[in-house]
This record gives sequence, C-alpha cells and structure tokens, in this order.
Amino acid sequence: MRYKNEILNFMTSEEIKALQEEKLLRQLTYCYNNSDYYRKRFNSCGALPADIKTLEDFRKLPIMMTKQDERASQTESLERYGHPFGMHLCARLEELELTSTTSGTSGTPTFTYTFSRREINGPVADLWAFLFRNSGIMPGDRVLFAYALGIYATSMLLWGIRRMGALPIDVDVRAGADSILQYAQLTRPVTFATTPSLAEHMILRAPKSIGKEVGELGFRSLLLCGEPGPGIPEVKQRLEKAYGARVFDYWSPGGLVFGLACDSDEYHGLHCFAPDYNLAQDDLIDPISREPIESTHGAVGELVHTSLDRDACPVIRYAYGDIVEVLTEPCPNCGFTGKRLKIVGRSDDMLIVKGVNFYPAAMREIISEFAPLVTGSIKIILEVPPPRIIPPLKIKVEYGEGVDSNQLPDLEKKIKEACHRKLNINPQISWVPPYTFERMLRKTSMFEKAYE
Ligand SMILES: [Zn+2]
Repeated sequence: MRYKNEILNFMTSEEIKALQEEKLLRQLTYCYNNSDYYRKRFNSCGALPADIKTLEDFRKLPIMMTKQDERASQTESLERYGHPFGMHLCARLEELELTSTTSGTSGTPTFTYTFSRREINGPVADLWAFLFRNSGIMPGDRVLFAYALGIYATSMLLWGIRRMGALPIDVDVRAGADSILQYAQLTRPVTFATTPSLAEHMILRAPKSIGKEVGELGFRSLLLCGEPGPGIPEVKQRLEKAYGARVFDYWSPGGLVFGLACDSDEYHGLHCFAPDYNLAQDDLIDPISREPIESTHGAVGELVHTSLDRDACPVIRYAYGDIVEVLTEPCPNCGFTGKRLKIVGRSDDMLIVKGVNFYPAAMREIISEFAPLVTGSIKIILEVPPPRIIPPLKIKVEYGEGVDSNQLPDLEKKIKEACHRKLNINPQISWVPPYTFERMLRKTSMFEKAYE
C-alpha cells in the first residue's frame, strides 16, 4: 500500500511533516476566523494560529475538544442559531451536503460527520475511493453495503464507492440478516462491507436462510469496521476460511483519520494512508494523565485528532477516546513506510481491576486464542459503573460448538492462566452455550451492565 496523495510517496518524513505544518496553519487560521468556539479556545490559552510554527508548538496547546465539549457546543448552537452542528461549525448552512452521527449508544448523538459540498465530493470521496480500490474492488464491481444507513456515519462511504466507479448495494442492516443474504444472492456483489459481528453471524445464518454456505456467495473480500474483530488472528482466519475471501479492516473515526489493513494473511494494522488529512497518528496522549506521548514504534496512547482539510466541522486537538498502538517500522507485508495503528480500545471502555488497567478487547483477544473450543464471544459483567471493577472480574464465555461439558474445567484453567500471564488479572468464568449472545447488527457491546 502507498499514501493516497501520490506526492507523499516521494517525500522524506521531514518533508511530510513540513507539508502537515503548512496545512495545519491554514486549517487553524480558517477555524479561528470562522468559529466562535475555536476563537474562544485560542484566546483562552493566549495563542494565535500564527504562533504555531511546528507540530511541537502545536502539541503544547491544550486539548480543545472532547465528546462532552462537542455535545455542549451543539446544545449552544441549537439554542442560539437553531441548528445542531455546534458552535464549531465553520461553514455556512447552505454549504452542507451530508450530516451523520455515530450510532449514539452512549448519550446524545454528535454530528461530527457533517460535510460541506466541497469536502464530501472532494477529499472525502477521494479518500474513500482510494480505500475501496485498495481492498480488492474494481470499477464496475458491486459492493454489498450493510450498515445502518441514513443518519449514521457509514453513509459517507457511499460517496467513495460511487466515486471509484463501483455500485453500492446498500441494504440497511435494520432490514435484517435474511434480507441482506437475499440481496447478496440476487445481486452477486464481490465485496461485503459490514461489521465483523454481522459477518460472523451470516456464517451460521446463511444455510438456514438461503440454503447455501456464505463461501458459495462469491465474495472476494470483506471490508469490516466498527469492532476489533479482524485484528484478532482467530477471527480473521475464521472469516476468511468461511467466506473464501480476504478480510480487510478499515477505520475513519470522526471521518478523519483514515486507515486500512493491507492484503495479507497476517494482520499488520491499519495503514495511515492520509497523514496530510489528519494529525492523529502523530499526536498521542496518555489516556489517564493526558500528558503527550511520543508517537514512536510500540507507543500506546489515545489519539488526538486535528483535521488538516475540513470545512464544515473541522476538529482541533479533539481527544476522541480511541486508544491505539502505533507501529512506525515499514510493514513486513507490503512495505508501507507510513505509520500503522492497532486499535487497543476506547478510553471509556477501560476497566481497572485492583489498580491494573485493561481494555475488554485485550481480554477477548486472549480468549479467542482458544477457538474453536470457544466462539470468541464474551461478556464482561459490570456490577458497578466502570471503570472500577470490584474483584473478581466476572466474565461469561461462550464455549464452542460440539464442546463437551467435561472439557470445560481444563479449558477454564488454561484461560485463567493466560489472563493472569498476559493481563495480570484473575477472572471468574461462567460458561454459556455457543451463540447465547445476540450478534448485533450494529456495534456489539462486550459489557453486561448488572448495575442498571
Ligand atoms: Zn502492509
């Protein structure tokens, strides 16, 4: 894989940084001139955009936005101007072409994914088109697109599918698994773009629903997003085997940082192919102390987003809550020289057991290694509101199909040992039959909130 912006492929990392700095100054000046929100933030820290000469200067600025700030900004603009896009909206209302939100699983949805006509038809469509082209799709292909549509953020992908000359078969996930399978059969798409858990659910559902295995549907690739699944080797292998297709995962939190896995049996993280569009891969903080962390090989921290080419709702030092591990060495598979990210979890998913911090995704990854003796689906029982867990940490684990109950004590012992060795946590496991947990059509939560 290469950078999307062709010129970056011929630049040194210093030259890329200089380009980022040039675009940053332009974006900061634009935000300062066009929004009360950012003007106030700059004024309160005694800086002007023109003072920011380097990324090092920039990283001395405080965090300028969090999810709560974004919500408060939306509430204020609704009260003052009668629109929900926030006081940080920098474009005129008549310039907007798309607004979409996250699924709003926690609190009021935010309209982070709001785009002007120029951006959604320009850089955003081009970035998505690049991402699709690098995941095995050709012009003239059909893409089965099964997400929540309309107001939800994934709608923006449709601009990219159309831009690259492919045809979206956009079936809203709320139509249900049977309907999606029926359209797969009717339209013969080459790619299935959906969430990892729905892709897994389809493996079981297809024989009952359409009398065929998913492997007979003719998919060349699966393009997955929304959950950590493809980063777990067992999940990736299971999906690739069942579908007879390559699994790619991709990411674009806030419609900002773009990442795509490369075409490989092994998983090498999300390749940040557009460092001239967002600074996040170069701006990390410690999720607890909020102090800067250098974005070097192996560093783990929370991404801080700053857009470099946005009109409608640009973000400046937005701590969005995504915890990642950064890889800076060239990709062993494709040789990509830019940064790569592995998603570790969400800062608001972080749990603390006896002073040990961990992310549920890490627990799931350890348990998934025992597949096919387990399905890989787990629930962490929260007896009090997170992040604190009163020990022992209780988890429910689905055993695999065909597993006999007398195999479970030994399996339990091995899982506990692995959790202790890798996370320094001793969970209390209760077993549940395979496919007890509902495979959600949208993001599946790993928590069972017993306190609610
Ligand atoms: Zn690669």
